[in-house]
Amino acid sequence: MSASNGTRRLDRILSPEPNRDTLGPGAGLTVGVLALQGDFREHRLVLEQLGALTCEVRRADQLVGLDGLVIPGGESTTISKLMDAYDLAEPITAFSRAGGLLYGTCAGLITVARDTVEGSPPTLGLMDIVARRNAFGRQVRSFEADLTVAGIGPATFRAVFIRAPWVENAGPGVEVLATCEGRIVAARERGVLVTAFHPELTDDTRMHELFITMIRRREGAAQPRAAGEPGRAVAAPANR
Ligand code: GLN
Repeated sequence: MSASNGTRRLDRILSPEPNRDTLGPGAGLTVGVLALQGDFREHRLVLEQLGALTCEVRRADQLVGLDGLVIPGGESTTISKLMDAYDLAEPITAFSRAGGLLYGTCAGLITVARDTVEGSPPTLGLMDIVARRNAFGRQVRSFEADLTVAGIGPATFRAVFIRAPWVENAGPGVEVLATCEGRIVAARERGVLVTAFHPELTDDTRMHELFITMIRRREGAAQPRAAGEPGRAVAAPANR
């Protein structure tokens, strides 16, 4: 839970099931990870390490009862196409509008954005940002940087960028949490958190802890609830 700059250990990634810390800050919460493509497993490991129950989301009905949903890094065009194929775009939008929290990393940032500079892939429009894809130079430019991130304490965060986007434009309601080379790379707006980098690839859990804190705050506020599910935001599957 403290800051550290190590890369996530292979034995954790390769273990058959995430090992949950039932006393962690996420205890009692259930967080889904969109598992169509990309590094969803690494997000599950961090969230379980923080005590949350996790599940992989591939169908709309798997959103029911979740407190939050992570949209992982990967390839945003592929994620967009698979979301269409699995009829997930509308249910995820409904989930967010009903008070479910979202955290998009890298391709996930692109997925939740209002738009992209490039005009593709189609995005969900759940955050008032415009993303520029592969923004930090051409092709495979990947790098790490130590960033100060608002909301996670004074120690810098080792941010791993892999063909990362940045936030080209942000609306007035968007809170900028971090910049890199003068560009916005972490931000939040109401119930949506985004990072252009990959915290799930390091041992520093503070970005996921911030997401959990946002869920807890939201749960403390008056939110739409499903009958019989106190404390949980629920979106009805659109295709049922
Ligand atoms: N460049 C990818 C895209 O545009 C995102 C890369 C990532 O998620 N690591 O979808």
